[in-house]
Parts: sequence; C-alpha cells; structure tokens
Amino acid sequence: MPDVLVIGAGVAGLSAAVRLAGAGARVLVLEARPTSGGRAGAYRDPATGEVVDNGQHVLLGCYHETLAFLRQIDAANRVRWQAGLAVTMIDRGGRQSTLACPPLPSPWHLVGGVVAWDGLGLGERLSIAGIAGPLARAQRALARGEDPGAEARGVTVRAWLERHGQAPRLCEMLWEPLALAALNQPIDLAEASHFLGVLARMFSPEPSDAALVVPACPLDALYVEPAVRFVRAQGGEVRTHAPARLVIDKGRVTGVRVRDEHLAAPIVIAAVPWFGLRGLFDEVPASMAAIVDGAARRAASPIVTVNLWFDRPVMEGPIVGLPGRAFQWVFDKAQVFADGARHLSLVSSGAAEVAAMTNARIIATAVAEIGGALPAARRATLRRATAVRERLATFSLAAGEPPRPPTRTPVPGLLLAGDWIETGLPATIESAVVSGHRAAAEAGR
Ligand SMILES: Cc1cc2nc3c(=O)[nH]c(=O)nc-3n(C[C@H](O)[C@H](O)[C@H](O)COP(=O)(O)OP(=O)(O)OC[C@H]3O[C@@H](n4cnc5c(N)ncnc54)[C@H](O)[C@@H]3O)c2cc1C
Repeated sequence: MPDVLVIGAGVAGLSAAVRLAGAGARVLVLEARPTSGGRAGAYRDPATGEVVDNGQHVLLGCYHETLAFLRQIDAANRVRWQAGLAVTMIDRGGRQSTLACPPLPSPWHLVGGVVAWDGLGLGERLSIAGIAGPLARAQRALARGEDPGAEARGVTVRAWLERHGQAPRLCEMLWEPLALAALNQPIDLAEASHFLGVLARMFSPEPSDAALVVPACPLDALYVEPAVRFVRAQGGEVRTHAPARLVIDKGRVTGVRVRDEHLAAPIVIAAVPWFGLRGLFDEVPASMAAIVDGAARRAASPIVTVNLWFDRPVMEGPIVGLPGRAFQWVFDKAQVFADGARHLSLVSSGAAEVAAMTNARIIATAVAEIGGALPAARRATLRRATAVRERLATFSLAAGEPPRPPTRTPVPGLLLAGDWIETGLPATIESAVVSGHRAAAEAGR
C-alpha cells in the first residue's frame, strides 16, 4: 500500500509526489491521460518530428517554489535566465524598442527602465511614477504576510491602471501584454488585485525576481521526465492511462478506483484541475458540496498558440512582444531551445475571441501579424503552420468568481492540489507547485 496516492500528473501532482518521495514516502501517481504534464506538456509534431509544447510557458525569477522543484529533480539547468527584465517590443506601427530594467532597488528598476525606454514619449514614460506608490505598499503588505492586492480588489486591471494615471500607450505597450501573460485574461475583465500581487512579487527588492526564465527544452524534458525519474528512483511510481475515482468509506477517503482495480492508501491528494474535481466522486459528500459546486461554476480563460515553420530564420532575438495584436508574444524556438527546434510560437492569451475562429483564420491572423511586425517574415516562405487551442487553459480571475478552496478538505484523508487552490497566485506553474508542496507538507503531518 502506498503512503500517499496522487491523482493527476500535472505540475501540482508531480511536485507533490517529488516532495513526498524525497522525504521517504511511498508514492503512487495516477494520470488519466496517456502522457503526464497536464496543461504544461508537449507532443511530437507528426510532420516535422519536432517536440512542440502545448503552449509556450515562461517562468519568472520570483517563481521560487518552481525553481526549488527544478533543483530537486536536477533540472535547474534546463532553463535560461535573463539578467533582470529586458523585453523587445514592436508596436503596431512596426517600430522596435527595448525595455531594459537596470539593476536598481525596487521599484526603481522598473521606473528607471520605463523612463529610459525610447518606445514611448516622455509624458507617457513619466506616467509610470503613478505606480510606484501602490507597488511599494503592495510589497510591504507581502512582506508582512498580508494580501498584496487588497487595495485593488473589485476593480479591473484597466480601471486600476487608469486610476494611477498610466498613459494609454504605456498600457498598450507594457501593462496589457504583461497582464495578459501573467493573468491570461483581458485587462477589462481580470481583477486588478491579482495583477498587483504578481507585480509585488516580480518587482521585489531582488531584481532577479523580475527576470524571465525560459525553458530551454520542451516541457516534457524540462520537468515531466525528470520528476517521473525522481519518483521512481525513490521507489514510487507514476502510472498513465489510469483515470481514478475516490473511494470513500464511512466519510473518509480510503483509496481510489481505477476501472475495476481498488487501490488503498491512507491519504489521497487530488491534483486535478477545477473542471475535473466533480468527476472524482461517485457521490459528492455533503461536506464537500460547496467546494465541488464552486469548482464546477469556475469559469475558464483560453490560450491559443500558433506554431509556424518558415524556411529560414526571421527573428533577431528569441522573444518579441507584439502589443496591440491578437498574438501578443512570439518566441523563436530555435533560439529558445538548446537544440532541435525550428518553429516560431505565437501566443494569444485571454483568447476567447481567437479560440472561436476557424483554424484557417487563426493561422491567417498570426501570419499577418508576424508579417506586419517582422520584415524578414514577409520575405520567408511558410512551410507549415499549426494552431493549438487550450480552451480550459486557466481559471478566470474576474471579480465574483467562487472562492478558491484550501489544501485540507472536510473529508479525512483527502487533500487538494492544483493551480486553482487558494495560493494567492494566478493560474501558473508557480501556483501549481506551491499547491503541490503544501499538499505534500499536509500529507507528511
Ligand atoms: C497554453 C498554456 C500556456 C501557459 N503558459 C503559462 C506560462 O507561461 N507560465 C505559467 O506559469 N503558467 C502557464 N500556464 C498555466 C500552467 O500550465 C498551469 O497553471 C499548470 O500547468 C497547472 O498544473 P496543475 O497540475 O495544477 O493542473 P493540470 O496541468 O491540469 O494537471 C492535472 C492532471 O490531472 C489529470 N487528471 C484529471 N482528472 C483525473 C483523474 N480522474 N484521474 C487521473 N488523472 C486525472 C489531468 O489529465 C492532468 O494531467 C499555461 C497554460 C496553458 C494551457
């Protein structure tokens, strides 16, 4: 009998399993799909043979728990660190400029970077000063262990930026692409408290917290294979093709059922997404009804990725921001990955409208936008294009969503993990790892 059963081999389930296995527990992870990784996975493109992510994932220097997870599975060298925040943007007029934050104490690295940014007019740059006060207050709250976003509750990101005097062009060039990447929701919908929380962590007194940390290999090689290897090396197991349902006896979880097989364990960590929670129960216990109903009511926000194979390199640097477009960021995987990739990945976050288009229209939009921004792409020949829709990519951060549940449930033996658990973070890898580590700590008590 394992000490702990984990349902779901996404980031949350694998990080919980690694923590537990590293502490000497016998762990069995059950994954319904044929492959592990969940919403952060990779697949082999049949035409090119390249391994392609289900969507570009970017980490930040402030993802402290994720970086600890990568160190534990000996994968910390599979990411590339930028020195501080430096991003190249091409505006809708085709003008290229770079925002580079100098290594100053917070918030002066952000303020200094924006003030020196030649992509904006002087007045637009100086409007950044309006953010310094709220950012400093949010950081003090975070340091005291309080909610850093408290003063931005109940307002949208756009309303909050306007309240603090941010110029429309600064919003378009910086805040909107940053908020879309961090929250995966349009700034007219997402609640600003979540964005302020991200900013407080990112623009902390430690400048490296704002650094972009980009996987240098596909996601399966980044963390899935190393985590599975780690769990097995400690005597645990990760089984795929194993859809699990909870077995509850006299009000307590006693194990799971996978088809006809009964697997017993004193503790089960349900590391499934909010939209998978209801499916774990034959019958929902009354004590779990509020949590399960809340999860079922939680709205989702999609991400659409277009992968393009041109016949030649078209980008100078590995990452370019395309503010004011349907696809806000483009990554040249040939430069981002250590080897073996030749495609560009264009990302559309908060992509409800794009996700509703046909594949042909999605690809045509992406090709038109990249051609408008990069002259080299106009001269190149497009060899192949694919579109990947992740309709349930992340949970909504709009005001009025149901509360997020804690790790412990009212059902003895059942713990929850997943990016949607109450971590104080948006739907990110870091939130998933924080939830996994918390569940492992609870299980070890
Ligand atoms: C396209 C895209 C881009 C993203 N970009 C970023 C980014 O740049 N930075 C960032 O930090 N985050 C990003 N995210 C978010 C990030 O991927 C997620 O927050 C994270 O992967 C969630 O992990 P999880 O383990 O909580 O859930 P999941 O990944 O959903 O894992 C849950 C697992 O449980 C399994 N499961 C469900 N039910 C059962 C069952 N009954 N039995 C067994 N198994 C079951 C599922 O198959 C799945 O594998 C992105 C997400 C997407 C989709």
